[in-house]
Amino acid sequence: VKKTVPFYGGQELRRVYERMRREGYAFIASNIAEPNILMGLLGGAQESRADLLLQISHGAMTFAGIGDAWAGLRALWHYIRELSAQYDIGVFLNLDHQQAKHLDLLERAIAERIPSSIMIDASHEPFEENVRITRHVVELAKPAGILVEGELGIIKGAEDEIVSDEAFYTDPDDAVEFVERTGVDLLAISIGTQHGVSKGRQLELRLDIAQRVDDALKAAGYDVPLVVHGSSGLSTEQLRQLIRCGVCKINRDTFYQYVYARTAYDFYRQHHDGIVPPEGVAFDPETFESAGGDWTPNKRAFDPRAVGKEIQRAVSDALVKFNREIGSAGKSLFI
Ligand SMILES: [Zn+2]
Repeated sequence: VKKTVPFYGGQELRRVYERMRREGYAFIASNIAEPNILMGLLGGAQESRADLLLQISHGAMTFAGIGDAWAGLRALWHYIRELSAQYDIGVFLNLDHQQAKHLDLLERAIAERIPSSIMIDASHEPFEENVRITRHVVELAKPAGILVEGELGIIKGAEDEIVSDEAFYTDPDDAVEFVERTGVDLLAISIGTQHGVSKGRQLELRLDIAQRVDDALKAAGYDVPLVVHGSSGLSTEQLRQLIRCGVCKINRDTFYQYVYARTAYDFYRQHHDGIVPPEGVAFDPETFESAGGDWTPNKRAFDPRAVGKEIQRAVSDALVKFNREIGSAGKSLFI
């Protein structure tokens, strides 16, 4: 298949998931909120010859739009579209952890065919309410060819604007009823992983839950890719095992945030002398003049593009490594 449009919608994404289920590999679904991580992910996916699933949460939209989530979504969307045109791989956009209270934004995003898929998170609601909200989003998204991911079971920790102290495993029978009644294309399950870096009592990791949910869905005639959130603490072997249980989407957000911060921290520490004047030298940033010495700041140290390139490289390397570990490298449907 030759790429003819900058990035792809739900129908192409469905084909990628079908092949993932057949051949046993997965997306590392990667969150973005600003350009450096986005650019790193595009480069890493191309280097891996793997398709790329980007995610934007409501908090990321709000950040990118200086408080206006709709403006932020459109700004990031345009940015992704323009940049992804330079790459051969398939690039997809998922709206991560959307909530019923932002339904108006979802309706506008669907009307403009912005996302390839939407994750509606009503997992904190009682089962019937979760079904009702998720079903409603499926009804809105389906005519536009946009896939919908629902969530059943509660994942511990803080993700964006959703915080949960308690966790519950997904029940396989509930999963079948949920898929049946909502018509979701993907199902996020709770197997004891955590969002972010959270302290306190942890659920025991239960990889077998993924297998039991997958078996129950298959027995009921549903071929639904499973999704695991909060994957930061999982080993490569655990991720591979989850993929064998039908998991096609593994969410990563926190890890890139750490890579970003650590890379910037190390870079600025290395270039300390180009940014911070020596002891006893007064420096006026407005005139770039220092009193009492011939010290001047070094542009190669403080130009945001210098640290930005380092961050992009580190994020790219991280994605290349993930894609190799979980078998996605070389699997792009579009090159
Ligand atoms: Zn999540």
